[in-house]
Amino acid sequence: MAKLKVLQYPNPVLSQKAQPMGRLNDKDLSLIRDMIDTMYEDDGVGLAAPQVGVSKRIIVISPRAVRGEEQVYINPEILHFSEEEEIAVEGCLSLPNISCEVRRAKKIMLKALDLKGKEYTEELRNFPARVVQHEIDHLNGILLIDRIDFNQRQTLLGTYQRF
Ligand code: ZN
Repeated sequence: MAKLKVLQYPNPVLSQKAQPMGRLNDKDLSLIRDMIDTMYEDDGVGLAAPQVGVSKRIIVISPRAVRGEEQVYINPEILHFSEEEEIAVEGCLSLPNISCEVRRAKKIMLKALDLKGKEYTEELRNFPARVVQHEIDHLNGILLIDRIDFNQRQTLLGTYQRF
């Protein structure tokens, strides 16, 4: 069990598109375990591998922040976004002390690989759907400040730089 260092904006790894995973090896599995520990220890509800400096398409989530309820998605891909959207306040471990309202699809259809490399699809709605959309953004080099308008972004980053 190990807690990893979470990279913070503007670390360049956070803006890169992460690479798809092949077959998972022991090192990957150990990374996933450490990502799960890090998520809980930092009181997050999700974590993407690029946030710990590994540019690979792996995310872990635990929308209720309850140990044992974590889910791991390898090479996750959103097949369908519902037309119905919702605005809610989000934060990010890579942007400490910043929170902002982000519009996201209320429901998504997701395709991913499990730990054994088997592909499956899953429908997610409400908060879990939001967490997965946030984490998949990380795999594409997108942070929540990229999802808000220019003026709001400038205001938030002005605050951020003072920390
Ligand atoms: Zn984040």
